[in-house]
This record gives sequence, structure tokens and C-alpha cells, in this order.
Amino acid sequence: MMIDARDSAADLDRRADFIIVGAGIAGITLALELAARHSVILLESGGTEADRETQSLYDGESIGLNYSLLGSRLRFLGGTSNHWGGWCGMLDDHDFATRDWVPHSGWPISSAELAPFQDKTADILDLGSGNFETEELVAREDHALLVDGSKVTHRMMRFSNPVTRMGEKYRNALENTPGLSVLLHANLVDLRLHENGSTVNSGQVRTLNGRSGRITAKHFILACGGLENARLLLACRSQARAGLGNDKGLVGRFFMEHPHVTAAELFALDQSWCRGQMALRRDSDHWFGLALAPTEESLAHHRCLNFRGQIFNVECETDEPITLRVMMEQAPNPNSRLRLSGSEDALGLPKIELDWRLNELDWHGIQCMGRLVGEALGAQGLGRVKLRNWVMEQDGSRIGFGSHHMGTTRMADDPAAGVVDRNCRVFGTSNLFVAGSSVFATGGAINPTFTLTALALRLAEHLTGLVR
Ligand SMILES: Cc1cc2nc3c(=O)[nH]c(=O)nc-3n(C[C@H](O)[C@H](O)[C@H](O)COP(=O)(O)OP(=O)(O)OC[C@H]3O[C@@H](n4cnc5c(N)ncnc54)[C@H](O)[C@@H]3O)c2cc1C
Repeated sequence: MMIDARDSAADLDRRADFIIVGAGIAGITLALELAARHSVILLESGGTEADRETQSLYDGESIGLNYSLLGSRLRFLGGTSNHWGGWCGMLDDHDFATRDWVPHSGWPISSAELAPFQDKTADILDLGSGNFETEELVAREDHALLVDGSKVTHRMMRFSNPVTRMGEKYRNALENTPGLSVLLHANLVDLRLHENGSTVNSGQVRTLNGRSGRITAKHFILACGGLENARLLLACRSQARAGLGNDKGLVGRFFMEHPHVTAAELFALDQSWCRGQMALRRDSDHWFGLALAPTEESLAHHRCLNFRGQIFNVECETDEPITLRVMMEQAPNPNSRLRLSGSEDALGLPKIELDWRLNELDWHGIQCMGRLVGEALGAQGLGRVKLRNWVMEQDGSRIGFGSHHMGTTRMADDPAAGVVDRNCRVFGTSNLFVAGSSVFATGGAINPTFTLTALALRLAEHLTGLVR
């Protein structure tokens, strides 16, 4: 059932087993899983189409590296899947590990905990397969793709086809799944606690045409995207002065992106190898491609950060530089953060002030990437790499971003180190959970949506176990 909360006939005082806030990839995945056995209310700020007034609720200020708060997310049914690019990959196993040269690294869970959800994630995101093993592919292609595997190797990326727009793909299911009510144009603006101080009792809902209501549930899940989850926790100040789950002041800290850098020119010595790197490949109706990635050993040896590199512009004649585009891992950094600003949106919620920062380790990572790729390609006579000057000069104005919002409600075993526990429950609360890439402890160097969808499926399994 889909209800427009602005409609005067719509009852906004409702109750369910689960209330999920945000109908993007994470929220819709969770809602459909949970509604198979429980009553679920899915709150969505927008309608079925984009509208300017709702989108402007995402406006805010960027005071650090150049960033667009409005342009990097969408606020209507389906969320940012309405314009995502569809590239998917897996975090490397070693992305989950604690690395002694990366402060605050290490997840409380390993990649093995997400493996059971890979195939279903691939179905949801229309990838054709949840298998990302590259060995078979490289063998099939007659070793033409190999690089010196001791320093740099390959990772597979799959491409969503047709690119999954969650609101369109699951529209019928959202309208017709028994037990599921989707409230459109319904914004969560506050969460109210029981007098025990740890159980969320109810949520305040407001619409842009002035209606309001109070929804109650056994469990609440925030699935509003990697920036907005933290904003909402910080904005719930009616009973907790610093915001919900923020006793240690960690909500909004550790904001991570994947710095996108066109940091190097590549002079190809082997044109066919370069073309092979760039080509998209097809498996029946599904597309996949390759990216260069460092080995775990070379990362440890150089004490640097993960990356994925892709080669572009291979219409080159010999001596013509080719572009090496790289998506870097960003080190978790408490000073790269979002706060609430002094100005408010149309619903009276404080806006975001984002201070995205890179540190010395991040710059070392970019420089190291150039060296590793250069050495690997040079040793095999495949090409030569020249780092651009701005990398050595650490010119932050040249850094791009991927609209990948990670880390602001990071996962940890210790409440002093994170905002949610290994089951995505907000520390200090008994029934408030977070879904989405805000829970990532580190972001690796791969687009986040595959991982956040697998985490949403894992969370659904956990929550189902809580309500019998
Ligand atoms: C241009 C672009 C290209 C991208 N390409 C890729 C890619 O190729 N691969 C990849 O992995 N990732 C990509 N991403 C990132 C990807 O889109 C996100 O990782 C993903 O959409 C996040 O899903 P989510 O469900 O956590 O959040 P969202 O999709 O952002 O959904 C959040 C939902 O919450 C709702 N909401 C927010 N606040 C409230 C509130 N207070 N009350 C009620 N509802 C609320 C919003 O309306 C929205 O529907 C791209 C992003 C952009 C912008």
C-alpha cells in the first residue's frame, strides 16, 4: 500500500513492527525482506518523481574540499538509485582487516559475513552474477591481461543492466506486499525515547504541507543515505543534548569518500594490452570490466591505501598519453566530518555542514599508487607512468569525488570507537539500527552499493530473528 502523507485523509499516527526511514536501495531492500513476515512502515521523504522543494531539504554547506551536497544524492522514491551509475564490486578481504599503518582501520566483521548475501545482492542490483573472481576471466583471455601480480593485480567490476532504479523496479511490490505501508512525502524529523533513555518509542513525521504524525514500532531503522543518517541522529536532540548515539561525539565523524584522481598519464608501449584493460566484457545480458588494484602484500610493504585504476582514452597512437583514472581509498579520519550548521531547512531541521578532508596518509596513498602501477607496467614493457605535478604539490582542488558517502556512523565492537555495533544497532539504544554506507568502518576502493545492499540483507536476517 502506498499512501501520500500530504493527503488530509491519510492517518499519520500509525504502528508497525518495523519502521524504516528512507526508501533508497538500503531501505527498499530491508522493507521487502522484513515485510515477508512482519508489519513494516517505510517512510519516504519524496514522492514517486523528483521535486525541487523536497530535494532542497538536502541542501547544506561544504567547508572542506569541494563537495556537492545537493548533487550527490536524490530525495524521492528509490533515492540515489534514480541516478547512480551501476558499477559494482566487492570490498577486498583485506579491506576488513586492521592495518597497523592505517589508524582506525578494521571492521568488527569479515568479508565472510557478507558472502551468503552476494547472490541475492546481485539479483537486486541486476548484475547477472555475484561472482567477482577474476582468475577465470584472465585465463579465458589468454593471459593477455596480466600485469606483474606481485605488485598490481586485477579486480572485477560488474555493471547493473538495466541500471537498477529501485523505485521503478520494485514499485509493484511496494504497492502490493501485504503488511507493508509506504508513506510518501513523509519526513522523519525526530525520534522520541522511552523514559529508560535507550528504547526508541516513536518517530515524529512531518510533511512539507504542514501535516504531522507520530509513528510507533518495536524497531526503527534509519536508511537515509550516508550523510543523512548522521544528520538525523545529530538532529534528534529533544532528549539527548548531543543527539542520539552520540555520547562519544563520534556521529558525523570519519566521513570518507573515494577520492577520484586523474593523477597520471600513461604512455602505452603495448596498445593491445591497454585496449584489453579498457574494454567492457559481456556475459549474456550482463557487462563487466577490469580494474587495476594493488596486492595486499604491496599495500603492507609500502604502508599505503587501496585503489582501483581504470585506463581511458585508448584511441592513442604510440607516444600519446592515456589517462589513468583512479578511485582511491580514503583513510578513516575523525577530522573529516559533518556537523549541524546554524541554518535550518523548510522542516526546521538543522542543515549539514560538511568538512571533507584528506590527510598525509591519503596523499601518500595517491603517490604510492602512481609508483606501484608505474613499476608494474614498466617491468613488463607495457607502458610508462608519469604522475602529474599537482599530486606532489598536494593540490586538493584537483580531487574529485564519487558521491560515495561512508563512515559517519561507523561500525565497531567498542562504543568508544564507533556509532553502531556489528549488527548495525546504535550504541546506547536497544532498538535503533542504521542501514547504508554510513556504517562502513573503512571504504576500500570500490563503489559502495554492492556492500551496503549485502549489509541490508544481513541486517534484515538479524532483525527477523529479534521479532518472532
Ligand atoms: C551520480 C551518482 C553515481 C553513482 N554511481 C554509483 C555506482 O556506479 N556504483 C555505486 O556503488 N554507487 C554509486 N553511487 C552511490 C549510490 O547511489 C549510493 O551508494 C546508494 O544510492 C545509497 O543507497 P541508500 O539506500 O543508502 O541511500 P539513498 O539511495 O540516498 O536513499 C536514501 C533515501 O532516504 C530518503 N530520506 C532522506 N531523509 C529522509 C527523512 N528524514 N525522512 C524520510 N526519508 C528520508 C531519501 O528521499 C532517499 O529516498 C552513485 C551516486 C551518484 C550521486
